[in-house]
Amino acid sequence: MEKLNYDPCITHFSHEHPLEFFNLQDQALNSVLCSGCKLKPSKSIYTCKACNYILHIPCSKI
Ligand SMILES: [Zn+2]
Ligand SMILES: [Zn+2]
Repeated sequence: MEKLNYDPCITHFSHEHPLEFFNLQDQALNSVLCSGCKLKPSKSIYTCKACNYILHIPCSKI
């Protein structure tokens, strides 16, 4: 089996909880902003659902 490009779960210095890989629904795209760059999210992001916290995948690698 090929390795996934993205880890299903990461930890990031900017947030105290583990972040889960998630595909956002369309209506959610307009209601949240990436906590890294403050821009609208793309479809695939990392999220902490408990806090409504999201991070772009590229932003998670900085
Ligand atoms: Zn971002
Ligand atoms: Zn959290």
